[in-house]
Amino acid sequence: MSYLVAANWKMNKTVGETLEYLDLFLPSVKDLTKIEIMIAPPFTALSSASVRLDAARKEGEYNVKLGAQNMYYEEKGAFTGEVSPLMLSELEVDYVIIGHSERRHKFGEKDSLINKKVISAVEHGIRPILCVGETLEEREQGKTLSVVERQIRNGLAGVERDMIYIDIAYEPVWAIGTGVNATPEQAQEVHRFIRSLINEISKGNDGKTRILYGGSVNEKNARELIKEKNIDGFLVGTASLDPERFYKIITEV
Ligand code: PGA
Repeated sequence: MSYLVAANWKMNKTVGETLEYLDLFLPSVKDLTKIEIMIAPPFTALSSASVRLDAARKEGEYNVKLGAQNMYYEEKGAFTGEVSPLMLSELEVDYVIIGHSERRHKFGEKDSLINKKVISAVEHGIRPILCVGETLEEREQGKTLSVVERQIRNGLAGVERDMIYIDIAYEPVWAIGTGVNATPEQAQEVHRFIRSLINEISKGNDGKTRILYGGSVNEKNARELIKEKNIDGFLVGTASLDPERFYKIITEV
């Protein structure tokens, strides 16, 4: 499976700014089809971005996919403020980020809710990127691997045999938006652990799950990180907001 470099814009960019970005960014990645690229704008810009990506694909070779930053697990109903998998599918959303550390820590999402979202995404043919990662305190207490193990076992409960439809992002909370990335060695230790855990729980049905690294990835550290054997791409926040910086990261992979 090809590397995946994904942009998580978080709560940034209006529709106008999204289209401006795509106008600059898309020509730079035309014909760059060996690497899969994903952009996750805010919900409000998904529809316009979807139309723009569709038009680009008709004009040339693009491997740029559309992602959502979150979704609810039910298809419809009395869930004020939520967005359903059917609504995302209609916009031809390919990926959905689930369990991002900001969802876990700022909005109180627990493993059980995250698990329902992962299952629902798989059922609706939207590829979930399950995010896991320890806080600084947990790392200092030597709990990194046990926290990641709990988040993965609970997050994937019931879909362990569907790993070919799922990607994982290891994003240490202390590295997100701080400018302090995990060293290649620190990342590799956790990625190797995640790989063996997936092998175990999927009972041989792994092989296509990518393990992305996220947390202060930029154009300067991408090359060193991607050299590591079990790092299969990136989930990029801050540096993805600038089309030139995001493009540079892609070219380092
Ligand atoms: P960052 O964010 O690149 O700004 O650290 C990464 C993420 O939250 O996915």
